Amino acid sequence: MLKIETIQDQRLSNWVDGAWREPASKRWIPSFNPFTGQPWYSIADSDTQDVQFAIDAAARASALWREVHAIERGGMLRRLGQLIADNAEALAQLEVHDNGKLLREMRAQIGVLAEQFDYFAGAADKMEGSTIPINRRDVLAYTVREALGVVGIITPWNSPLYQLSWTLGPALAMGNTVVVKPSEHTSASALAIGELVAQAGIPAGVYNVVTGLGATTGDALTRDPRIAKIAFTGSTATGRKVAHNAADHFAQCNLELGGKSPNCVFDDAPFERAVNGVVAGIFAAGGQTCVAGSRIYVQKGILSRFVDALTARAAAIRLGDPRAEETQMGPVAVHDQLHKIGRMVKAARQQGAQVLHGGKQPGAELAQGWFYEPTLLTGLSQDAEIVQEEVFGPVGVVMPFEDEGELIALANDTRYGLTAGVWTQDLDRAMQFAKRVEAGTIWVNTYRAASFTTPMGGFKESGYGKHYGLESMREYSRVKSVMVDYSRTTPDAFVMRVRESI
Ligand code: NDP
Repeated sequence: MLKIETIQDQRLSNWVDGAWREPASKRWIPSFNPFTGQPWYSIADSDTQDVQFAIDAAARASALWREVHAIERGGMLRRLGQLIADNAEALAQLEVHDNGKLLREMRAQIGVLAEQFDYFAGAADKMEGSTIPINRRDVLAYTVREALGVVGIITPWNSPLYQLSWTLGPALAMGNTVVVKPSEHTSASALAIGELVAQAGIPAGVYNVVTGLGATTGDALTRDPRIAKIAFTGSTATGRKVAHNAADHFAQCNLELGGKSPNCVFDDAPFERAVNGVVAGIFAAGGQTCVAGSRIYVQKGILSRFVDALTARAAAIRLGDPRAEETQMGPVAVHDQLHKIGRMVKAARQQGAQVLHGGKQPGAELAQGWFYEPTLLTGLSQDAEIVQEEVFGPVGVVMPFEDEGELIALANDTRYGLTAGVWTQDLDRAMQFAKRVEAGTIWVNTYRAASFTTPMGGFKESGYGKHYGLESMREYSRVKSVMVDYSRTTPDAFVMRVRESI
């Protein structure tokens, strides 16, 4: 499997039909380590022809893979999960070099990925259809779930392996083949998985990776009519383009898009737990998560005490080398993103924001990397850009509220609807929040809790479709109805009877 030592200064080709394939384009793109700010390997800058090679391979393999018995597919996926666990340290190191995630966090995450593949392996042979009583004697009606065909997977840079796996598990378990286009900034782990897929005994062509730029490689993938479904994780703006392309050839979409999640603290919240939950909600992974609790609403009775505690905790966060055990926050994964964060905070200041902590890049010893301080702002109105738009960095805005009615209106005042958190000891209030807030996941007295057994996915402009759980197995399958007439009447008679009944 690819490792940091073998990748350093190398050109990584595409993984197509079970082998490394140089791009027909003959073009390459450098990939950077955000901690050093230096390029460390190159990926193929694939063109339309490269994408077509990959889809050809996936389409050929589709006929075979869908015929492999679900129990056997499950067995291969279980082996893939085990291989991921066996190579956890090397995969964790790759992700850390590629996007600056904490090594500690990556080790834990990859452990969960192995369990996740195990879950979908177990689900492969449990997607039952149904038999349906109909109003005709001696006619059996039943449904089966079958694979969609070739699934295109497009992933962002913030959690590359995690976001690949939540589609890969159910898509392969249901008998689909895939073509993956990872982010140009973080392609190493998706490529590394190719060899593990082969070692797991999964046939060539079932898993393919074409790297390159979104506007060219990604666009070509979404336009090809052989793609039955596009599983896209990324920004709302790109998701909209993907959905337009998919509509042209009636491909299904699963869109996991942006968020601007409210994390809401009532006066009666369990105070220390709420502080911890709000800190983790916005600063975990440097705020580079779709579920970041970036709108922090605090009830007026505890506002000043809560803000003091929050600010002290933000100030204590240790930035540094993501490989070091003591580091609590690493760099921003992408250079343009660092600029975007700076620009949005500057605009917020011009709109009257008061900076409680942070608001800049840190000093000298971290200057070579792409760091931004944990930042807390206040004094902004609900319509300020930074309250309404996703920053995708370590920036939270604290805002006061009076009562439950006002809070629910504020929480819903966003074009996004991915997640929302509430901190209170009043059960009725928590349940009303869960019912009335428009978000795909609601957390009560916790934040960022996720499990591969529980469906996750946004509402509104955060997208549609679900990852995780049996719900995601349904996402990557289609229902076929079959009717069998065993009444010994002539086929024409059956057709006539059905016609009469419509
Ligand atoms: P982008 O939307 O810019 O990119 C996501 C992926 O789409 C990348 O692989 C990108 O390629 C590709 N892409 C870009 N343009 C096109 C196009 N025209 N056609 C097809 N593919 C294209 O998002 P980021 O990578 O910047 O990721 C951050 C965003 O992802 C945030 O907004 C965040 O909220 C969202 N996100 C959502 C999650 C969720 O579960 N809801 C989870 C994680 C992130 P390339 O990078 O190579 O240009």
